[in-house]
Amino acid sequence: MSTSTSTAPWRRAVVTGGAGFLGSHLCERLLDLGVEVVCVDNFASGAEANIAHLDDRAGFRLVRHDVSAPEWLNALGDGPYGLVLHFACPASPADYLRLPLETLDVGSAGTRNALALAHRDGARLLLASTSEVYGDPLVHPQREDYWGNVNPVGPRSVYDESKRFAEALVTAHAGAKGTDAGIVRLFNTYGPRMRAHDGRAVPTFVCQALAGEPLTVAGDGSQTRSLCYVDDTVEGILLVAASRSVRPVNIGGTDEVTVREIAERVIELTGSRSRLTFVERPVDDPARRRPDTTLVRELFGWEPHVPWPEGIKRTIAHFETPTVAGARRTS
Ligand code: NAD
Repeated sequence: MSTSTSTAPWRRAVVTGGAGFLGSHLCERLLDLGVEVVCVDNFASGAEANIAHLDDRAGFRLVRHDVSAPEWLNALGDGPYGLVLHFACPASPADYLRLPLETLDVGSAGTRNALALAHRDGARLLLASTSEVYGDPLVHPQREDYWGNVNPVGPRSVYDESKRFAEALVTAHAGAKGTDAGIVRLFNTYGPRMRAHDGRAVPTFVCQALAGEPLTVAGDGSQTRSLCYVDDTVEGILLVAASRSVRPVNIGGTDEVTVREIAERVIELTGSRSRLTFVERPVDDPARRRPDTTLVRELFGWEPHVPWPEGIKRTIAHFETPTVAGARRTS
């Protein structure tokens, strides 16, 4: 299917983590496509504000629940559901370091519960996995057949290993029970509705620049990231969701930039007088990160359209809107 049409192959969808940054954009896009959406979220790292504008939309429902506990399946109400987007998981390092055991739980028990729902309803399940399954990669750019370089007991392991285990579960469920399940490995997506202080580079730099504070660049800032604007990522996710692909698929930007370049561009685009300040680099922080997107291009014709400076401008505009700016200053 093409998600740029006005139809989608599902009548009802469940989005776990739907009150988060990516989840809220997915809920909105699905509603725009005429799909009824149940958002399941425990607000571990999500925000009411992300979905407040969806409250009045026909076909939208919020279920407040921890998806690692199986009871949420009983709170869903009438099915069957045709699509399960399993996006619940703290995603910023600040959040998963604050919630280490919960992060492991949502990748294991949470994924198991989401798979049980998909299997019960004969639905398509898509797992939000991550570039972090490649760890601090020794192969560059990262293709889906690279197995990664992950420290299983380092501070980031709660997230990396949670996602690696979740990928194993999805693969095993598809093989053992015939569940229609796929995996997207997302790389550094950014845009409106990220939390001001969630610790990820783009919102952190934007908010520091708007406040006139120094931009805290980790290390010497020469480590690279490949940024992808949220609208592009959402489009890619829905294309993979609408397929029956079982193989993990990378989705991410192809412009590799250094963290220092991101900070400098944010200063330029905000017109801020802020300067850079260099802070200690986190343990096991990946040195280079760029997806090989050949597979998603060949299978689905997907490629990102929003150049990163344009996406940064849109993100700045979001953080400058009066309600967000107020919350930014008080949080
Ligand atoms: P986010 O923190 O904004 O959203 C995660 C959401 O999941 C939040 O609303 C949170 O409250 C919810 N959640 C967490 N644990 C839960 C639980 N046990 N039960 C119910 N809800 C729970 O993060 P995001 O950036 O929107 O990421 C969404 C998903 O995409 C995550 O699975 C993340 O690992 C994955 N991902 C994101 C990126 C990115 O660049 N944004 C990159 C790779 C992977």
